[in-house]
Amino acid sequence: MKKVLVVEDETSIRNLYKEELIDEGYEVITAGNGNEGYELFKKEHPDLITIDLKMPEMNGIELLDKIRKEDKNIPIIIYSAYSEFTQNFSTWAANEYLVKSSDLTEFKSKVRELLFCK
Ligand SMILES: [Mg+2]
Repeated sequence: MKKVLVVEDETSIRNLYKEELIDEGYEVITAGNGNEGYELFKKEHPDLITIDLKMPEMNGIELLDKIRKEDKNIPIIIYSAYSEFTQNFSTWAANEYLVKSSDLTEFKSKVRELLFCK
């Protein structure tokens, strides 16, 4: 079973993404901030990571940089409520950049694509 790590500081969104990904048939682990996300990346060896951009302490870009220094290949999806961040060079190290939406269809299809169609 593929393991997905969801790093998101807002509890309701974190739980929503978790439930949706469990329904898709993945094992899902979650972190509420960047530090916790990094710890779980090291410890749990997930197959894919989804990262919220705006988080306290360590934000999504810092976490992305930290993970990419150790693993060039793991699929990473960055998402945010703000589309202007797509113009930020720092996010280009991610495989996908998505804007938050209540419709998770695109999110779920990108997860599937990155896990199985590489
Ligand atoms: Mg956030």
